Amino acid sequence: MSKTQLAIILSRLKVFENPKVQLEQYPTDSEVAADILWKAYMLGDIEDKVIADFGAGTGILGIGCLNLNCKKVLFVEKDEDAIYILKNNLQDYEDYKILNMDVSEFDKNVDVVVMNPPFGVKNRKADKIFVEKAFSCGKVLYYIGKVTSKSFIESISKDFEKKITHFWEYDMKLKNTMKFHTKKNKEINIGCWRIE
Ligand code: SAH
Repeated sequence: MSKTQLAIILSRLKVFENPKVQLEQYPTDSEVAADILWKAYMLGDIEDKVIADFGAGTGILGIGCLNLNCKKVLFVEKDEDAIYILKNNLQDYEDYKILNMDVSEFDKNVDVVVMNPPFGVKNRKADKIFVEKAFSCGKVLYYIGKVTSKSFIESISKDFEKKITHFWEYDMKLKNTMKFHTKKNKEINIGCWRIE
C-alpha cells in the first residue's frame, strides 16, 4: 500500500447523501485524509492499534486506518443515515465495530482517536465534547479542524496537560454540499493536530 493507493481507495467511498447542517456533516477530502493517515502510520500510530473514529460519518478516517493494518476500528456516529452509508462502505472490511451513539456516551479505552468533528460553527460546544472525550479514553489524538481553531485546541490541550507534538496544514476543497454554499468548490484552511 502506498499513500497514492490509499488516496484512491478513499476517493471511491460513498459520502453523505443529504448532509445535515445541524450535525455539520462535512466529509474529509480523500487526499487530505490519506496524507494525514499516512503520516500517522509513519509515526507508528496505526499498525496494530485499536482506533476510535469519533463522528465517523461515512467512515473515511477509520477505513483508511483499516487499510493501514490497524488492529480494530470503533466507528462512533449518532446519525443513522450516515451509518447506513458507512455500512455500505465497510462491506469489504472486517475488524471493526459500529457504535450508533453520541460521542459523549463512548466508554472504552483505545490507543488512538481520529476525528474530524463538527467544527463548532453551528453548534459551538460540539467539538469541545469530542476533544474532552478523546483525552479521557485515548493515548493519542488526531484532531482535524479549521486552522482558526488553533487557540481552542491549544488551550484545551494545556488545560488537560496534553502535548501537541505535530501540526499540519491543508487547503481542503469543500464540495458544494450544503444549500447555503454559493461558490462551487470553496476551499477552507484546515489543520491536523497530533496530541499526546
Ligand atoms: N469523520 C467523517 C465525518 C465528519 S462530519 C469524515 O471525516 O468525513 C462530522 C460527523 O460527526 C457527522 O457524521 C455527524 O453526524 C457526527 N456527529 C456530530 N455530532 C456527534 C455526536 N455528538 N456524536 C456522534 N457523532 C456526531
